[in-house]
Amino acid sequence: ESYLKAIEAANGALNAYVAVTPEKALAMAKASDARLAEGKGGALEGIPLGVKDLFATEGVHTQACSHILDGFKPNYESTVTDKLWAEGAVMLGKLNMDEFAMGSSNESSYYGPAVNPWKAEGSDEKLVPGGSSGGSAAAVAAHLCAGATATDTGGSIRQPAAFTGTVGIKPTYGRCSRFGIVAYASSLDQAGPIARDVRDAAILLKSMAGVDKRDTTSVDLPVPDYEAALGQSLKGMKIGIPKEYRLDGMSEEIETLWAQGVEWLKDAGAEVVEISLPHTKYALPAYYIVAPAEASSNLARYDGVRYGLRVEGRDIADMYEKTRAAGFGKEVQRRIMIGTYVLSAGYYDAYYLKAQKVRTLIKRDFEDAFHAGVDAILAPITPSSAFAIGDKELAADPVKMYLQDVFTITLNMAGLPGISVPAGLDRKGLPLGLQLIGKPFEEETLFKTAHVME
Ligand code: GLN
Repeated sequence: ESYLKAIEAANGALNAYVAVTPEKALAMAKASDARLAEGKGGALEGIPLGVKDLFATEGVHTQACSHILDGFKPNYESTVTDKLWAEGAVMLGKLNMDEFAMGSSNESSYYGPAVNPWKAEGSDEKLVPGGSSGGSAAAVAAHLCAGATATDTGGSIRQPAAFTGTVGIKPTYGRCSRFGIVAYASSLDQAGPIARDVRDAAILLKSMAGVDKRDTTSVDLPVPDYEAALGQSLKGMKIGIPKEYRLDGMSEEIETLWAQGVEWLKDAGAEVVEISLPHTKYALPAYYIVAPAEASSNLARYDGVRYGLRVEGRDIADMYEKTRAAGFGKEVQRRIMIGTYVLSAGYYDAYYLKAQKVRTLIKRDFEDAFHAGVDAILAPITPSSAFAIGDKELAADPVKMYLQDVFTITLNMAGLPGISVPAGLDRKGLPLGLQLIGKPFEEETLFKTAHVME
């Protein structure tokens, strides 16, 4: 009830939730109370969570914040949310996001942007909460839920976490099931939590993770007790600092923050070494080929027949065209066009195949670093703190917006886990984060290391 009240009071200004489910929340909370009264219960009994609108929730608004999914209420539940409810968590509603998870500012949502609860000192300007999981991050930061589900295809958990002073982890590809998550780029998409601190993120991920026969890319490995990793010493650990992440024109504040992170890890007993990930500069262009290619294929299913919106036409082809023209926003249309272009005959080898090869090289860079004894990598997450909603420069040039993802995208291309942890405030008083990148399926190392930096 207290969370529902908080949502009622603040959501008008923050636009973090696109659907609130009070009856469901109270019924789930009641059932949870009953289990607890009987001395039963799971790991998340009674914990109120928000769900990114990308996760299918049975009988509840699920639209990936797109017009094309108008009115869609799935008759099934995503595996990740199902697992949370099985542990006793309570659903408060569905959270705002960039349409189909395409974006870095939550401004491509059909429902309008979510608003960052943080403001620069002495300013009333509304800031983005980051994207695509902007609603998840804003809701967690503003206490409109105790934690939230999110997804990260190219930074969408870590960047919004950094912009809102929250913690987000993108687990290894295959750690969580993608079943019931609206597909954006299937070889990159991965679910994870956004939470108020590292401990909460560890507890949530434990409940979300695990193999699922309905997603053959989910991996059959035991899910460790991530919380048990917190508080362990970093003695004997080697942390890599990738020199290629020191970009020309990088702000001094980010440099200082990064150096501060190094000091914290050294103080905790870790050894810090410089490493090289030579193909880093190709990650962003390769991502913006692979992701739109997969998106154009995944989004072919929205045709006005099976889901949501339909705009009638002269014949079926005309109906498809009118529905897709009206149903997809500008950014989504742009991605579909890029995707179909790079996949088309004659261009496939030059773009898509090349990007896949680059992807292998990026993966090898990380493997080499890990083989040389590095346990985790410390890097910035964002080029700056949260920017203004409607920022003219970013709105005018989509490529400038894509450049926001320069630090986050590499690990998605390699399938690796990454955690974003709040590391301080910039001179405007806005949160900045740092990320730790880990070896496949070694999320424990990330939790343990991130906990030292909190
Ligand atoms: N900004 C990236 C994109 O638009 C992030 C997407 C994501 O992680 N869902 O593709």
